[in-house]
Amino acid sequence: MYRTHTCGELRDNHIGTETTLAGWVKKVRAFGSMTFVDLRDRYGVTQLFFNEELTQKLNEHSLGREFVIQVKGEVIERENKNPNMPTGHIEIKVASFEILNASETPPFTIEDETDGGDELRMKYRYLDLRRDINKKKLTLRYEVSRALRNFMHEQDFLEIETPFLIKSTPEGARDFVVPSRMHEGQFYALPQSPQLFKQLLMVGGYDKYYQMVKCFRDEDLRADRQPEFTQLDCEMSFVNQNDVLTLFEKLFKHILKETKNIDYPEALPQMTFAEAMERYGNDKPDIRFGMELNTLPFGIGKDDCGFNVFDKSELVVAINAAGCASYTRKELDALTDWVKRPQIGMTGLIYIKCNEDGSYKSSVDKFFDQEKLKAMAEQCNAKAGDLVLILCGKETLTRKAISELRLFMGDKLGMRNPEEFKALWVVDFPLFEHDEENDHWVARHHPFTSPKPEHTAWLGEKDKYGEILANAYDLVLNGNEIGGGSIRIHKKDLQQQMFKALGMDEEEANEKFGFLLQAFEYGTPPHGGMAWGFDRLCALLGGSESIRDFIAFPKNNAGRDVMLNAPAAIDDKQKAELGLK
Ligand code: ASP
Repeated sequence: MYRTHTCGELRDNHIGTETTLAGWVKKVRAFGSMTFVDLRDRYGVTQLFFNEELTQKLNEHSLGREFVIQVKGEVIERENKNPNMPTGHIEIKVASFEILNASETPPFTIEDETDGGDELRMKYRYLDLRRDINKKKLTLRYEVSRALRNFMHEQDFLEIETPFLIKSTPEGARDFVVPSRMHEGQFYALPQSPQLFKQLLMVGGYDKYYQMVKCFRDEDLRADRQPEFTQLDCEMSFVNQNDVLTLFEKLFKHILKETKNIDYPEALPQMTFAEAMERYGNDKPDIRFGMELNTLPFGIGKDDCGFNVFDKSELVVAINAAGCASYTRKELDALTDWVKRPQIGMTGLIYIKCNEDGSYKSSVDKFFDQEKLKAMAEQCNAKAGDLVLILCGKETLTRKAISELRLFMGDKLGMRNPEEFKALWVVDFPLFEHDEENDHWVARHHPFTSPKPEHTAWLGEKDKYGEILANAYDLVLNGNEIGGGSIRIHKKDLQQQMFKALGMDEEEANEKFGFLLQAFEYGTPPHGGMAWGFDRLCALLGGSESIRDFIAFPKNNAGRDVMLNAPAAIDDKQKAELGLK
């Protein structure tokens, strides 16, 4: 038997027992002629005590960090107890030991506070994984997955696998493709999601499907995107939007309870896309804090205030940073620089300080008298001591910028506590989005999402496309979209109309999605569903914004696996076999 106990389980009540432990050497401390070793495994750390004779033997092996050893000995009470360690009351008086394997000196310290940089830790991910902090993250991931699977099982869902070597399933990204050796010059695509298969499962009569599934999307990598990631993917038949939201709201609360022991009795609010944009400037509002947007009536044609920067703007919008009137010149300059960064793209920031004495100080007080400043401040519900921050310019850019500024101020003011969880549904998304660059309409969610019945007729009127709303919804948690879905189109003619609206002629639609259109001829039930970003959900529950840490072997921000050094070139023989040049 390699071990009788783990390194995390021995307590006072084990004192006097003989034990055998196996694990990694975390720390070696020579203490005169004796040695203390901290031994680590997945479950914790236990202190080992080696007497003079055993210390000599240890030294012959030049025992160092990360050696794998097995020790036999007696559990004894510790003289210097460590209340911060679960096993801190005891130690093992070692009677014999065996070195199971030696270790090179690790390239970074295997501690929560490590000295290893990101890339180095990714290169030696197997060592990084030994750190406690990472064990906790992967354990949480498992717990979330278990809670979720239990719930889906209780609700009578079947987990069904769908294939990876397929034809394109569009979710708005590029496909990863796999060349076929047997069919030279032809390629499979890896699924961006199992969307079409789950719809076909509904046609097949499996009315409650789910799957924990890998999805692959070849996107320009932004920070914290992974080219392969995991979804909780679901679909149901004979449901309307409310049925789907009700079920997934229950699932969300179940996971919070099971993994964080948090009760979430209140119903998740439902906010329309339009309202989210108006109040928060984006479609995934962080509702842990207020600081909502105030659109000021100083745009073109609304009020000629004599300040031509406002007059020329499509949008003048403000937030109220409560209690920030005391910001210094330097702090305000720093905020201005922040909004001027290329990622935000504003040309400047206007502020109104609401002084404690009832007066106003503003960066534009040349143009506005105290009364007008007061009117603007009041419109933002600003009181004495508050600071109004105003951005103006082009509609889309400015709305995005103020929403970023709001989050930035929320962080700065400590209003985005990662241990607080606030979720909502965003509903009534537009069906289409206009692609300015190519001047055509694209599906905002995906081409299989149904328009609201009352807007269906507008599919025939191009100038109405911008107004068509969809039965589509997102689940938003702490300012992050953790899931999205829709009620699907289940009638062939409507699906054909949709493809046409997206600029696909009949031939192309048949070539790409003929199998789906055909399936719709054989009794397709009304259906809908959603998918959750599982990695992101785990990260948020773990109090982190970074999904990478919650994946055992992630890619870096450039989409590389730095440990395997992938992607990599293939040799000429393999290329020839695949018919590639
Ligand atoms: N397939 C969609 C996605 O990956 C989710 C859904 O519509 O169910 O975003």
